[in-house]
Amino acid sequence: MKCYPCDLLLAIAACAALVLLAATLMNAQDPTSEMRARMVADQIAARGVRSPDVLRAMRATPRHLFVPQASRRLAYEDYPLPLGYGATISQPYIVALMTEAAAPAKTHRVLEIGTGSGYQAAVLAQLAARVYTVEIVPELAQSATKTLRELGYANVEVRQGDGFLGWPEQAPFDSILLTAAPLEIPETLIAQLARGGRLVAPIGSLGNQDLILIRKQADGRIQRHSLGGVSFVPMRRGK
Ligand code: SAH
Repeated sequence: MKCYPCDLLLAIAACAALVLLAATLMNAQDPTSEMRARMVADQIAARGVRSPDVLRAMRATPRHLFVPQASRRLAYEDYPLPLGYGATISQPYIVALMTEAAAPAKTHRVLEIGTGSGYQAAVLAQLAARVYTVEIVPELAQSATKTLRELGYANVEVRQGDGFLGWPEQAPFDSILLTAAPLEIPETLIAQLARGGRLVAPIGSLGNQDLILIRKQADGRIQRHSLGGVSFVPMRRGK
């Protein structure tokens, strides 16, 4: 005799088993997602970055696809990596710390100076409406554009040029991040910051840099805080 409820139960059990199998296979196909989860827990959340949105973006961004092929297996380690042309992709914790300090929101327009690999821009792209990023080295601007396009970060625009000039046509920005260090905060960039906006930048000479957060008040006044010592490549002067 046929037992319809039994058939139904069997079918449901078979479906559940298939879903479980698919999930296991997907996880096995992307071992990097587990590496990112560990990176976020051990290096970033453990050091005090709290913003759930920032932690989510750091978990979602495939850092290994932004570093040179030869250093892919080091992509989720707790240090910066060379990108060539004198550039380095920052330590993951520093990217998260700067992103949290910049406080991007879904309606925000963000400017980054120092595109490098495009990784910081990709993290920001998930938290802001639009990201504009300027890189002085043509080869890096080109390869970052390609990486960002291939990975589908459609709200990032890369420009090759001198970051000391900012991006006047798109100003004002709700936040501005510098990932190369000038000796002083460039006035041009402060001028391109919206009222209520935040600028995060490493400032100072090699071996003696502070990560600075600048907030432009509603009345235009500037507030400045130090977030601690850092080590970034110096910002070059354009020719
Ligand atoms: N944010 C990058 C890492 C940047 S390393 C990432 O996520 O990978 C610093 C970058 O700043 C380098 O690529 C360097 O070429 C660039 N840079 C240095 N001086 C600059 C300037 N004046 N304008 C724009 N980019 C500059």
